[in-house]
Amino acid sequence: MADLPPLFVDRMRAFLGPEEYDAYRGALEGPPHVGLRVNTLKIDVETFRRIAPFTLEPVPWCPTGFRVVDGPRPGKHPYHAAGLYYIQEPSAMAPAEILAPQPGERVLDLAAAPGGKTTHLASLMQGQGLLVANDVQPKRVHEMTNNLDRWGARHIVVTQESPGRLARRWPGMFDRVLVDAPCSGEGMFRKDPAARRTWTPKHVQRCAALQRKILRAAAQLVRPGGYLLYSTCTFAPEENEGTLAWFLARHPEYTLVPIPHEHGFAPGRPEWLTPPGPEALRGAARLWPHRVPGEGHFLALLQRRGDEPQPRELPRPRLRPLPAEARRLWRAFVDEHLREDPVPPTYTLAQFGHRLYAVPPHALDWSGLKVVRFGWWLGNLKAKRFEPAHSLALALHADQAYNRRDWTADDPRVRQYLHGEPIPDDGPPGWVLVTVDGYPLGWARSVQGVLKSRAPRWLRRI
Ligand code: SAM
Repeated sequence: MADLPPLFVDRMRAFLGPEEYDAYRGALEGPPHVGLRVNTLKIDVETFRRIAPFTLEPVPWCPTGFRVVDGPRPGKHPYHAAGLYYIQEPSAMAPAEILAPQPGERVLDLAAAPGGKTTHLASLMQGQGLLVANDVQPKRVHEMTNNLDRWGARHIVVTQESPGRLARRWPGMFDRVLVDAPCSGEGMFRKDPAARRTWTPKHVQRCAALQRKILRAAAQLVRPGGYLLYSTCTFAPEENEGTLAWFLARHPEYTLVPIPHEHGFAPGRPEWLTPPGPEALRGAARLWPHRVPGEGHFLALLQRRGDEPQPRELPRPRLRPLPAEARRLWRAFVDEHLREDPVPPTYTLAQFGHRLYAVPPHALDWSGLKVVRFGWWLGNLKAKRFEPAHSLALALHADQAYNRRDWTADDPRVRQYLHGEPIPDDGPPGWVLVTVDGYPLGWARSVQGVLKSRAPRWLRRI
């Protein structure tokens, strides 16, 4: 790799020493790792391995994660559109595993877009409890909602807020918070030439300052006894051990929980700070591309002192009663198209604008916040009819729908459907759930012998 920034090279050689630097540099000459993580909300790992056309190698630290060593491009396969997996390089699979959210908890992903780690958290929670996915950048939030729709998790609320505003509204309300911080992205150098081009020592300093600001807010969001996981995809000690040392010095209510240094995970390096940081920082973990099959990450697990009983009663959102007409339209859709009402009894139906949502039972009072998704988006309420949303299809089991067309992954109609092309059809008319090998892909309308795709536009582009 010829175009590494010279100042970066000098720094890394000084940090690692000539021998380890050569090993690191050698790793950068290889191709980046392609990985995928199986969506256990939809399919178990064994079944996926049996049906997937990829040669897969397990990722040691993530039971649902694999390196893709051969096969078709995973982003183009219809199982991807069906949300059976997320494409993620292996070291990015470590943070959610180490944070280890439990079903039924309240979990916040504070810098979540485009949603890679959110999807991982959602599956580990088995779709139970509350998962809030937040980011500040509108475009990235939009991309994230597409990814989360595909994932088919129902218990996710999406916000587009500054961490400070979330901290003021929801202090101490989360069992676990993930801060996968914006960073100088040195771990992306192999994959992303833009990351190499934009790197400067000043950028490292700016990222470190932003990380502190985000962590200051994150510290307030965790309940006593709860956990905070800080991660970056950079090697810069200023953004890793430096940010962590700053945090621990200002937040005596937090302790660092050592991460086991197994699977090739290496310890934090307090001696790389000036002046050197506390020895305890070794309890963080560094994932290096020359030691593990991944691009590189830094992780630190923190626990807030104290304890609070779980589950707790917390302020719920004030929901307006569902208008009778909205309930009637939803019921009519369910009766005509689905074998049973798919909304769990603990969820609350609520209308926001023309959208109908099922709000998860652990949702928190969101007044004053910019909420982009209020839970499971079921569809749109139009004059006299209900139009199902893609997120409804992708969170159903195929056999929940009466009217269904099931195609195999190599059936040309799957491509036609995903590209939005009309398809000749001799099945019953009306709303149709299109499935690939039994996994929902989306909705279509069968009208006068033609199946019209209702795949969303973003899916058609793929
Ligand atoms: N966790 C994501 C995933 O796995 O797909 C990747 C997150 S990326 C490393 C960092 C994110 O932080 C970006 O999406 C960026 O928009 C967001 N960000 C930047 N400044 C922020 C801030 N002040 N508060 C919250 N998020 C911020």
